[in-house]
Formats: sequence, structure tokens, C-alpha cells
Amino acid sequence: MTEDIKSKWMETALEEAKKSLRAGEVPVGCLFIYKDQVIASGSNTVNETHNATRHAEMNCIDQVIKYCKDRSLEYQDVFKSVDVVVTVEPCIMCAAALHQLKVVSITYGCANDRFGGCKSVLEVAPIYESGVEIIGGLKAEEAMNLLKEFYKGTNPNAPDDKKKHKKRNKEHK
Ligand SMILES: [Zn+2]
Repeated sequence: MTEDIKSKWMETALEEAKKSLRAGEVPVGCLFIYKDQVIASGSNTVNETHNATRHAEMNCIDQVIKYCKDRSLEYQDVFKSVDVVVTVEPCIMCAAALHQLKVVSITYGCANDRFGGCKSVLEVAPIYESGVEIIGGLKAEEAMNLLKEFYKGTNPNAPDDKKKHKKRNKEHK
């Protein structure tokens, strides 16, 4: 997949991220592309589901598994031909899952300084030796601006310092 095409897909992923911002979720948009077609697209549903593992990538993985089931395809084979385009660097959990599934490539927008599993916090690639091609920094500023908008506090689901502090105290008890 050429850089130009990836850039186009990133535009679509950013649209997904904007949708999730409006829905009160951390704005991350993700696409899984198979044979030049989007077979899964999604965003975070962590707040909606109250499930901290419902990241955009995980939601897309589930969609691909369903896609394969509906068409009697082996999902192991399909994932090996999937290119992932996601607006934020996948976290360690998601990066590990994508390496495990041996996707062709991961293209991401901005870095994830707190949880990034491609290079920011931990580089999971050497653990799996899966040969996944990783490209970061595509339209990073746009992806980052959406995150900033979310964390600015204009969103009711954004964590504020007070809430965080309370939670920390609770955990210490
Ligand atoms: Zn994740």
C-alpha cells in the first residue's frame, strides 16, 4: 500500500475519531483494510461498554472475525493480508494483538506517550518477530488535536483531576 493511499485512509480514520469524540469516547479511529476494501472500521467504546479493553483496534478485530465467519474464511489467513490504519499509536495491548495476528502493516497518526506499544512506551515488535511494517506520524497533528479537544474537559466523559484523585485515594484504602 502506497503512502498516498495510506494518507487517504487516514482521512477516513480521522472521521471515525471525530464521530467517537461526539459520542463521548476518547477519539481514536481505526480501519482494517483487506484487498483495498475496508472490512472493519471503528472507534473506542470504552465508556459506552464500561469495558477498558474496548479499544478501536479490538472492536475492529471482532468485526473481522465476524466478516470471516459470514464468508467462511479463515480469519488467520485474512489478518495476514490486513493493513491497519489508526489515528493514534496502538497501546501495548492492541499492538500485541495485531502482531499476534500478523497483520501486514500498522500505520498510525500521533504517538501514544502513555500506553504506546509500537515505540513510545514499549516496542512489542521484537517480542513477536512478526515482521509487521510500522509507520507512525501520518497526519499526527490532526489526530493529536482531537485528543486535546477531548482532554480539554469540554467532554463529560473526560477524566478530570478531581475524579482521578478520588479514584487514587480509593485504591490506597
Ligand atoms: Zn489499545
